[in-house]
Amino acid sequence: TDSVLVQEYASLGQPFLTAVPTTPLKTPVHWVSVNQALAGRIGIDPLGLQSSHGLDVCSGNAPWPGYPSMASVYCGHQFGVFVPQLGDGRALLIAEIRKGRQYHQLQLKGAGPTPYSRHADGRAVLRSSIREYLCSEAMHHLGVPSTRALSLTASSDPVFRETTETAAIVCRVSPSFLRFGHIEYFCYSNQHERLRELVAWHMDQQHPEIDQGNSDEAFSHAVLQWLTVVIHRTAVLMAKWQAVGFCHGVMNTDNMSLLGLTIDYGPFGFMDGLDVDHVCNHSDQHGRYSYRNQPRIGHWNLYALAQALTPLIRADKDQIQAVLDDYAAVFHQHHNTSFAIKTGLLSPETPAQPSTPVIDNAVESTLQFMHQHQLDFTRFFRSLSVLNPMASVDENFAAWQSSAHFPLALGDEAQIDQAKAWLGNWQQWFESIHGRAMLDLPVWRAGLNQVNPAWVLRNHLLQQAIDTAQHGDFTEVNRLAAALSHPFDEQHPASDMAAPPEWARGLVLSCSS
Ligand code: AMP
Ligand code: MG
Ligand code: MG
Repeated sequence: TDSVLVQEYASLGQPFLTAVPTTPLKTPVHWVSVNQALAGRIGIDPLGLQSSHGLDVCSGNAPWPGYPSMASVYCGHQFGVFVPQLGDGRALLIAEIRKGRQYHQLQLKGAGPTPYSRHADGRAVLRSSIREYLCSEAMHHLGVPSTRALSLTASSDPVFRETTETAAIVCRVSPSFLRFGHIEYFCYSNQHERLRELVAWHMDQQHPEIDQGNSDEAFSHAVLQWLTVVIHRTAVLMAKWQAVGFCHGVMNTDNMSLLGLTIDYGPFGFMDGLDVDHVCNHSDQHGRYSYRNQPRIGHWNLYALAQALTPLIRADKDQIQAVLDDYAAVFHQHHNTSFAIKTGLLSPETPAQPSTPVIDNAVESTLQFMHQHQLDFTRFFRSLSVLNPMASVDENFAAWQSSAHFPLALGDEAQIDQAKAWLGNWQQWFESIHGRAMLDLPVWRAGLNQVNPAWVLRNHLLQQAIDTAQHGDFTEVNRLAAALSHPFDEQHPASDMAAPPEWARGLVLSCSS
């Protein structure tokens, strides 16, 4: 390996981190999948990783040589309700590795109980581990910031949920697993010196460009500057989730990353048909975390973060409020620019920019049209590259029907009429943005196919991989793991790119994991 083991975070020690050994599984462990590309990227020798010692380390049967595994304490707002103490209940930090300026933490999820397990078993089941292992990588390859996944191991140890399942362990990787909840914990447990220490350490490690100065005044200024960065990244993350039709499902403040990464994959789902009120988590009865609500909740969570930082910020309330107010504009710019790019109205290179009335109208009408007919989110956008903004509505409709991703129901006359009306509007939006300038059609089409994935990791595909894996066959897990690294290619089985089959329409997911 060309990376070195470090203890940058570990050296913070108590009360931030508690050393907790992993608890070995009782039955033999085996690999389900290894992410060799990621291993190489972060400087871990793929061969060493795949050795029997590597298997022991990745499954919590042996410690990482020279590193005591650790659990951190945090708290959070769960479904809007403050919970004074949570923490890594089943995640253990097993290593920190540095390769030049690249720094990564490795966590095992499901490697046994910790002081923060609150009567739960510290384990994770194969089902939910496959979901996290595959989806965190899928998000990364879709261009959505996410924690990564290095390996998935399993054994036949029973784990009791609604039914008896078996244990699995994901080794996940991130520059930091700090959550909004870590900040909330040190604020609300009245450990404000510790709060300051944690924030100073995090800023120093992750945002060295922020000058912390050497007065309270300067530090306060730095914290406000850092908060601005977290707000910006969270707004961008929410825009990116919306733009791939991703619902997280459990946006509690303890599941919000300080780096603006997607973290903690539970009952998430990529939407099939667009339904803005879609709720992917069966336990979320009021739809707090519905597709439509995600951006608003991101903002709500940032308020909770800002509130918890007030002991460190000397600025008056108006200044903090002003920073929080920026969220809406940043989100809106990223959201509408993304959707305008996805509909071919702006080129893929366009940076997020203030919206115009035409773009606002185009994005809103398009999403409304899709929602009204619950058009398949992924297929709709992918199919647009067969269109031609210079052709007539009838020509475009004919071309559209020839797309392998055609999202409309041909028997539905009303839907077809509205689709033609949408095509007409679409041409007008295009023309009012670009005038009648000539378009390089092949370049335009390639651009669309490079922003609209040919397939996403839909719940039913995951479910099929889980079903076979539960019978000891990991072929499908590994097939998906390979496929998700190139979602913008057309080279995928038609069944991966299709809308879900009938049996999978009502697939319901709970928090159980
Ligand atoms: P989540 O809703 O998955 O974000 O989890 C909320 C809290 O419960 C976190 O502190 C987790 O570490 C903890 N937790 C969830 N499942 C388990 C488990 N099986 N064993 C121990 N702690 C758990
Ligand atoms: Mg969590
Ligand atoms: Mg979780």
